[in-house]
Amino acid sequence: MGKLGGHAVVVGASVGGLAAAQMLSSRFEQVTVVDRDSLPATAEDRRGVPQSPHAHALLIRGRMALEQLFPGLFDELVGGGAVPFDPGDDLLFFQMGALRVRFPSGMLGTSCTRAFLETTIRRRVAALPNVEIRDLVSVDGLTGVDGHVTGVVLYGGEVLAADLVVDATGRSGTRSDPWLDKLGCPAPEVTTVKIDVGYTTRLFHRKPGDLPGNALLYLCSEKPPHEKRAAAAFAVEGDRWVVTLGGWHRHHAPVDPAGFAEFADTLPFPHLAELVDTAKPVSDGDARKFHYPMARRRYFEKLRTLPAGYVALGDAICSFNPLYGQGMTVAALEAIALGQCLDRYRTASAEMARDYYRAAGKAIDVPWQMSTGSDFMYPETEGRRPFGTGMVNRYVRQVMLASHVSPEVHRVILDVQHLMAPPAALFRPVTVVRTLRAARRSPAR
Ligand SMILES: Cc1cc2nc3c(=O)[nH]c(=O)nc-3n(C[C@H](O)[C@H](O)[C@H](O)COP(=O)(O)OP(=O)(O)OC[C@H]3O[C@@H](n4cnc5c(N)ncnc54)[C@H](O)[C@@H]3O)c2cc1C
Repeated sequence: MGKLGGHAVVVGASVGGLAAAQMLSSRFEQVTVVDRDSLPATAEDRRGVPQSPHAHALLIRGRMALEQLFPGLFDELVGGGAVPFDPGDDLLFFQMGALRVRFPSGMLGTSCTRAFLETTIRRRVAALPNVEIRDLVSVDGLTGVDGHVTGVVLYGGEVLAADLVVDATGRSGTRSDPWLDKLGCPAPEVTTVKIDVGYTTRLFHRKPGDLPGNALLYLCSEKPPHEKRAAAAFAVEGDRWVVTLGGWHRHHAPVDPAGFAEFADTLPFPHLAELVDTAKPVSDGDARKFHYPMARRRYFEKLRTLPAGYVALGDAICSFNPLYGQGMTVAALEAIALGQCLDRYRTASAEMARDYYRAAGKAIDVPWQMSTGSDFMYPETEGRRPFGTGMVNRYVRQVMLASHVSPEVHRVILDVQHLMAPPAALFRPVTVVRTLRAARRSPAR
């Protein structure tokens, strides 16, 4: 089949933009990716992605989606030092007052820094003969006529003509609202859920035996006064730990080393405080901090008028509470969905965009419902509460308790959390019965 267009421009060279560029490279003669940042050749954090230094988990579904786009990626990451792990067995998951029972799930995850993942896929995309990545180039507007986007305007005035513009500019994606408005296209409805999440992160040297079984750790505190605290220690390339402390609604950890260690001490499970106490920090300086005020979803799928030649993707459509680790997975799923829609329509028409936003909306619906639903466990959370949240959360508490003793229930939770099964799996009769029986035996009771 011939190519379906001459030139596609992707704005944003982060995980979402790179996944899109990879997919577009087999469908367009030429793809240009532009980013306002300087893009380092090695795995370094960069300004345009301020979340980069913080713990990033890639869900199993996301690993599979990225592997579909970039065959052999998992082996390449592991070859470069990323840590393969079984989320059922190698992850100490402390939630609702106890650890989930560990069992070999047969699922395979990989843990690495966000910067290493991004650099690895950027190298892949840059090696494609018909893709050009231009850094230090900022997009300042769109060109077009009558609801049809025909290109982008760069700072300084240069215009890049395009048959399709993919907006993968992350949370700054709302900047396109006035640009599209000028072309007669309305802005999408937006919904926000205010959670005031804070991340504070330090890197430590890792050696065998730092945690039991050299595991990774995620924990969530539920008991007052620290019930909104969460923490993670992820083993990453370079024999290091990324340790992130923080929580919801201003339960944020200090950046100075002493305050960081004190915060770790307040967590309900000693391993992380011990790790922070004993492991050697990679640098003596203060930790890095990130404040994430609210999750945000833009409903392009509800718009009556959509522009031809333009779609948004990744965090530009939906930015999830990072504590659930869903953003990169959904961005990769959207890139795949966009490829399927382009193949169906063979042109970047408004109808293609409508179909794509419908598919993207489906990819977003479940993780959005799960993450915002959980956020509404806290009365301070502000926003539109999904219907039935209170009832669902009461049952989910029982499921969490059951996961302390039942590998079968833990299995279902993993499938749902990693977007491998729909949340309805939690409500199958066999799981409900197992949950109600096992929850009574939880040590947290
Ligand atoms: C603290 C934190 C922790 C997270 N943890 C996880 C996790 O554990 N797992 C997970 O899956 N996801 C996580 N996420 C989300 C994840 O980082 C994003 O979903 C992922 O990076 C995909 O985003 P994106 O590519 O759409 O946008 P971004 O990563 O935000 O990138 C946007 C890009 O666009 C560029 N750009 C912006 N404006 C312009 C412009 N005008 N012109 C040119 N370039 C521009 C920027 O420089 C940047 O490179 C986390 C997010 C945060 C905030």
